[in-house]
Amino acid sequence: MHCHLDLYSKPSEVAQQCSKRGMYVLSVTTTPKAWKGTSQLAADNLRVSTALGLHPQLAHDRFQELELFDEILPSAGYVGEIGLDGGKSFLEHKDIQLKVFRHILNSLQRVGGRVMSVHSRASAGVVLSELHKYSEAGLAIMHWFTGTAYDLKRAINQNCWFSVGPAMLMTKRGKELIMSVPRNLILPETDGPFAMQNNVSLMPWDVRNVYRGIALLWGIPETDVESQLFDNFGNLVEKAAHG
Ligand code: MN
Repeated sequence: MHCHLDLYSKPSEVAQQCSKRGMYVLSVTTTPKAWKGTSQLAADNLRVSTALGLHPQLAHDRFQELELFDEILPSAGYVGEIGLDGGKSFLEHKDIQLKVFRHILNSLQRVGGRVMSVHSRASAGVVLSELHKYSEAGLAIMHWFTGTAYDLKRAINQNCWFSVGPAMLMTKRGKELIMSVPRNLILPETDGPFAMQNNVSLMPWDVRNVYRGIALLWGIPETDVESQLFDNFGNLVEKAAHG
């Protein structure tokens, strides 16, 4: 539910591999300008959906692209990645980040809402408050959630879903959070090529590592995890289609 197909060194080859493997992929973009080229990667594969995004780490640099965002939005089925980043190097841009996020949530409400892949690093509380305010913006999938146990409860109460990647399964805190999420709200992601394992960028099909990691946590076979997560995905798509 969250990878950056366009940022691999050979995007078309990765997209072709995904097709060959019959994988469902949510290919998120970090800028509205990247939308056109990135959606072309999915042109001949109905299982790959492209999400229109404006990454909070780029908000200060790309806020001029909000107009383009609004232009494309009616034709985009998914949105992401969007959100806020409270990491030290981005704190100086927190005002513009919030402005951009609010603009996007407002636009989302205007078009009737979308499934959103939401970034909330070191900012889960504020992100959840904004999502609460813009309650018609759509269905939020919190990607790589790193909030507190309290934030997590709030997110669950606000009907958020959670996409879990290999990185989350490597930390004690990540594992604790995963154990506190209802099993029917978890979806797999890799966040490749940004996210790495052993200094190598994760490929979309490394989502297997997620099944393996969750299987250990839940104490059930990997294949059962895979089918649970696939059912979850089906429910998400259904919910997105019928509100
Ligand atoms: Mn990402």
